[in-house]
Amino acid sequence: MNGSTTISSTPHTTQRVAILGAGIAGLTAAIDLSRQGFAVTIFERAAAPGGKMREVVVAGRPLDAGPTVFTLREIFDELYADAGASFSSAVKLIPANVLARHAWNAHEHLDLFADPQRSTDAIGSFAGKRDAEGFLRFTRQAQRIYATLDRTFMRASRPTPLGLSRRIGLGSINDLINIQPFTTLFKSLSHYFSDTRLIQLFARYATYCGSSPYLSPATLMLIAHVEQAGVWYVEGGMHRLAVSLAELATSLGAECRYGAEVTRVLVRGGRAAGVETHGGEIFAADAVVSNADNNALATGLFGDAVRTSVARTAPKARSLSALTWNLVAQTEGFQLARHSVFFGDAYASEFDDIFRRGRLPANPTVYVCAQDRYDGASPAQRGAERLLCLVNAPPIGDTHEFSAAEIESCETRTFRRLETCGLSVRREPAATRVTTPTDFNRLFPATGGALYGPASHGWMSSFTRPGSRSKLPGLYLAGGSTHPGAGVPMAATSGRLAAASIVADCVSIAPSRRVAMLGGTSMP
Ligand SMILES: Cc1cc2nc3c(=O)[nH]c(=O)nc-3n(C[C@H](O)[C@H](O)[C@H](O)COP(=O)(O)OP(=O)(O)OC[C@H]3O[C@@H](n4cnc5c(N)ncnc54)[C@H](O)[C@@H]3O)c2cc1C
Repeated sequence: MNGSTTISSTPHTTQRVAILGAGIAGLTAAIDLSRQGFAVTIFERAAAPGGKMREVVVAGRPLDAGPTVFTLREIFDELYADAGASFSSAVKLIPANVLARHAWNAHEHLDLFADPQRSTDAIGSFAGKRDAEGFLRFTRQAQRIYATLDRTFMRASRPTPLGLSRRIGLGSINDLINIQPFTTLFKSLSHYFSDTRLIQLFARYATYCGSSPYLSPATLMLIAHVEQAGVWYVEGGMHRLAVSLAELATSLGAECRYGAEVTRVLVRGGRAAGVETHGGEIFAADAVVSNADNNALATGLFGDAVRTSVARTAPKARSLSALTWNLVAQTEGFQLARHSVFFGDAYASEFDDIFRRGRLPANPTVYVCAQDRYDGASPAQRGAERLLCLVNAPPIGDTHEFSAAEIESCETRTFRRLETCGLSVRREPAATRVTTPTDFNRLFPATGGALYGPASHGWMSSFTRPGSRSKLPGLYLAGGSTHPGAGVPMAATSGRLAAASIVADCVSIAPSRRVAMLGGTSMP
């Protein structure tokens, strides 16, 4: 990985690595390890790569059912370049001019743009000059926090508060206060904005990592900078990115096995020694990378021997789940952008419902991704269009299955909110696919349907995610529940950090033993 790891020129051809899961982190780890001569095999229980970056088919048309906002493309530019490939040749990206369209009712709408001046002007017309100036101060602060934490925290392997202070050279308590870990995102926004709609809009960035703006540190305003730095449309859909990563890994020699569920991580001589699959295959390896949620290890899904390799996330520390509708439907009224947000009018109670009461929100904020639209333009083809509608939901899919009545009532509230804002969606049951927290828990076991690992609540939360080395030698961690956290670019980074740890552990052994197994333990 550029700038952070010494890559050995020694070929590691005798080193076998089993990767458990072909999510974004599993795939980026596979790419980095394969290009350095490791023999990599990925075991993925689903039929396709991508994990949460999955695709569903509705009314015969493929739709993204996971991430839709693609940012920080430079992380992928670097990944491909390091592997001797070109990201821009492999995946066609189109820059978005409209970052997102926001609505509170049929009359109050606000677009944010890639061009900050256009956003400033729009905010000025929407909320007045003072808040437009506040926006400029806010973007400068978000940029400052991002610049401070990018290499020192996000791309560094598991920093501690003390290590972080040293690394960013925090000279005084003021420097630490500048990254605003001790105040909540919601509270901090009143320093920049007086209009409650703008506070709500920028508070929502906490949900990008599955958290409540009322409980997470103001540091998360850096997400606003990430979006301001560029949002791209991926031609062919986000799932295309996962397919491209799998193709690159394969071209470098990795083997991807789909429909291959891992049931146990093997341990021998006090270190991870391979995996066992549902079909009973024993696959010996010198190192194992787990791209499953860390709770799957901690709750014993991969055997008692690895249960203590990582700490368990308490159910109340989990991040948001979601209730989603993938639809192919005609829309009328409100002109959708690719990304549109329809705000509920009781924001605090929305998070209270989810995190404290464990119920679907009475007054949901609704995100709609109109997958056939570029910026604000109508789809090229008239007629039904492809939509993903999402509301936040409690991560309790392992202990509570929402009844059909509860889902239906939330669906009514969701689409009523869209109507209030002027959007009508003509839904057909045959062209609708609903995914609940229980479904997400089934797809991503031991999560309760939490989609972003542990929530980022409290200033210490970022430091409690494990780094890429688990407590068990030979077992490495990668993915949204590992440092630096969830979101496509962060998961990609965690996969790279896991690969870098394996390489470092490998090259740190004596030169005479470099062709021996990782850590010097031979496999039978
Ligand atoms: C609805 C939704 C919307 C989102 N929106 C955005 C967005 O707009 N932008 C953004 O950046 N991020 C977004 N995210 C978050 C982002 O998708 C994730 O943080 C990221 O994709 C997680 O990647 P990961 O590496 O943790 O792997 P995961 O996606 O969690 O994949 C883990 C893989 O491990 C496999 N696995 C688990 N157990 C086993 C087993 N026993 N055997 C074999 N395989 C196994 C799973 O099948 C899965 O493929 C969204 C997520 C969701 C669900």
